[in-house]
Amino acid sequence: MDFEEDFASFLGISPEKSVFNLKELMDERQTIFPTKIEKDSSLKFSLRNSSSEKTFLLVQIIGNNEKGFFPAFAIDITKDELLQEKVRNLAYTDMTTNVPNRESFTLKVESLNQKCLSKSFKSGLLFIDINDSHKIMEIFGHRLFQKMLRETAERLTSVSAKAESSIYNLDSDDFVIVIDDYDNIDQILDIAREVNKMFLDPFMLGDGPFEVSCRIGIVSCPEYQRRTPITPSDMIRYGEITLRLAKSNNDLFILDKESYLAVIKELDMEMDLQNSIRDEELELLYQPIYSFGSNRIIAVEALLSWKSKKHGAVSPSVFIPLAERSGFINKLGDFVIDTSFKFASTLKDKNIFVNFNVSTVQFYQMDFAEKLAARLEYHDLPPQSVGLEITESCLCKDIAELIEKLSMVRKCGIAVSIDDFGTGYCSLSYLKDLPVDYLKIDRSFIMGIETSDKQVKLLKGITNLAKSLGVEIVAEGIETKEQLEAVIGCGCSNIQGFYISKPMNETNTFKFISSYTGPGK
Ligand code: C2E
Ligand code: MG
Ligand code: MG
Repeated sequence: MDFEEDFASFLGISPEKSVFNLKELMDERQTIFPTKIEKDSSLKFSLRNSSSEKTFLLVQIIGNNEKGFFPAFAIDITKDELLQEKVRNLAYTDMTTNVPNRESFTLKVESLNQKCLSKSFKSGLLFIDINDSHKIMEIFGHRLFQKMLRETAERLTSVSAKAESSIYNLDSDDFVIVIDDYDNIDQILDIAREVNKMFLDPFMLGDGPFEVSCRIGIVSCPEYQRRTPITPSDMIRYGEITLRLAKSNNDLFILDKESYLAVIKELDMEMDLQNSIRDEELELLYQPIYSFGSNRIIAVEALLSWKSKKHGAVSPSVFIPLAERSGFINKLGDFVIDTSFKFASTLKDKNIFVNFNVSTVQFYQMDFAEKLAARLEYHDLPPQSVGLEITESCLCKDIAELIEKLSMVRKCGIAVSIDDFGTGYCSLSYLKDLPVDYLKIDRSFIMGIETSDKQVKLLKGITNLAKSLGVEIVAEGIETKEQLEAVIGCGCSNIQGFYISKPMNETNTFKFISSYTGPGK
């Protein structure tokens, strides 16, 4: 009814107007509280002035109703409100990519959960992860990595908009596209195809184009058809698991119950494996290697055995790859090295090697050879007390680095065996350059050798090759007298296998070494 000029200009109305209707300026969707106006109440309005700018007004009633009108102050609180809005947005948006973040995703899942209580529907989520993102980060640095993330977000946002779905950026390079309700799984696969198409164009990083690829894990939620909510953290776990499976499945995986349970079991086992040293569930068993050349046991191979309270006896062919994937292999490897070196120090005067197996991951640690040298010194072991076994498949890498590493290992007085020889599909030409002492012929060459001329010829060939290179041969997995005879006939005199003995604990190994007189020929 009566107001100051400043107030009129703030609202963008003419100061000459004596009465105006605030409702015409109000943003429609707001609820005003309190609904009843009386003395001392304050009300907040969101308004659009004549130039359509968003403003906020706080109205404080200061007196009683006089003939239908209240005296009041009006305060411009636009700056405060916009700042608060920004803070709210920051909490729900990823700062780098400007895409709704993990908090928003949590809200989204909660809203789907709410919806599923009253209605059944099919939701589909595409979890998207950039391949080798840490490498991209290392090559290009933080700033260009962020540029790549922003561009990824833009490309994915356009796919998501076309599919009428919503997109979230859970963390750095982890994105999710959520389709609230779909009819047919092809719809989801189409989106996955679109996402892949988006990555076909290289990204401009640094001076030139760079190819970036992603993997996609699809989670469809049959829970919602049964009207069962899924917690946001479970949903994220489904996503992580399906992405993990996508890694080994051509970068695309649709999560089903079976694979989910298999991964959960693996994760469970992985956790238990990490506690296996503390819980004393790991033991090294030793299997003797007999030489017909010197008619004695020349070495024992340390084989890791895991007797888990929960999972029973787990084979190293299961838990070693598990440990490699989780990064636990280095700790496990250290345990093997220390335990086998300690055992070797009790065999000092017996002139017997204790062989330990190392995994590729472990072997390619920066300071692996130095570490071995330090452990040898710690256990006060003379040269020729321990031997290292490394599988052939490990050798298909950079040959120069390999030669250097193996040479360092041998310089410490550690014998080197190439394990599972013949299974790694490596070029034979590397053999002439490699500093190795033994080739261990894989059991697959021995099985059936007693009745197969071809296998005999093959083993003879390998034995002659090794002899010409000055490398000794060990035949693995000899189980019968017939196999033993066939193998010896091929010129191979070092034998390992159940026919000599199964792997044994330390005490029995010690006894065995002291009393064994040989298998006879
Ligand atoms: P490997 O180094 O080639 O070890 C020989 C495997 O053959 C052992 O299996 C042994 O028990 C088995 N074996 C020996 N003689 C016979 C036989 O006459 N018949 C049959 N059927 N099998 C025989 P295991 O203990 O299950 O180990 C499997 C693989 O796991 C090992 O193959 C090795 O590559 C890996 N491994 C074992 N312990 C360790 C370890 O401490 N570190 C690493 N990195 N790998 C290990
Ligand atoms: Mg071995
Ligand atoms: Mg082997």
